[in-house]
Amino acid sequence: MKVSITASVGKGSVNNSVDVRKVQNLLNRWISPRFLSVDGVCNGTEGDRTVEEIKKFQSSYMAVPDGRVDPNGGTLRKLQTKWKQLPQNFGFGSGYYQYGRSADIGARQWGSKKTIETIVRVCKQFQMQQRTITNQYNLASYGLVGVGDISFKFGGYMSPHGTHQEGLNVDMRPCRKDVLQTPVNIFNDQYDSDRTKLLIELFLADPNVKSILFNDPKIYKLPRVSKYEKHDDHFHITMYE
Ligand SMILES: [Zn+2]
Repeated sequence: MKVSITASVGKGSVNNSVDVRKVQNLLNRWISPRFLSVDGVCNGTEGDRTVEEIKKFQSSYMAVPDGRVDPNGGTLRKLQTKWKQLPQNFGFGSGYYQYGRSADIGARQWGSKKTIETIVRVCKQFQMQQRTITNQYNLASYGLVGVGDISFKFGGYMSPHGTHQEGLNVDMRPCRKDVLQTPVNIFNDQYDSDRTKLLIELFLADPNVKSILFNDPKIYKLPRVSKYEKHDDHFHITMYE
């Protein structure tokens, strides 16, 4: 259920006790481990614990956090985002590795709960399947899928993409024959079309996968796969939810 407040909470705000409690509860969703006490008290000045936590929360999307939550404001809405970050666990057992355009790869790997769960589930399936087929259990990286951009924590424009704003898109690397965790495109000798096709078929079999863009002619013949400019070195998935 959507949380609403009657008046502003935080720096220089009205700070009704009931509203403060609601905001403190929401803030605790984002603080790990939860350590902000839900006491309904906020004195509205710098240094107040609730004000500081609001500012910390806002710092991921505001250049100058104002430390305040308004009844119809963006901070209240963002505090209630149900998105998840792709678990940033590299290597063995996770089914995928991460790649990205910035040092903080994880900042670009937020999505709807279902999108993240779908990625994790299918990557894991693929890794298990690949290891069974090839008997490569001793090779930790075998079958790991490269997962790239999804969305920012609260969505919005993500350069250089037209999409990736709603937490429903993900870019992934095609498979390499040498299983190195490096880029590959469909014209490269190391590109493994057969394994990439298996991976894409697994995604297509998942009920949350709506469509895929990719330029390998053997693969874009599949239903719900289309070719699209610049999709030689990654495939792009759109999820339903
Ligand atoms: Zn994409």
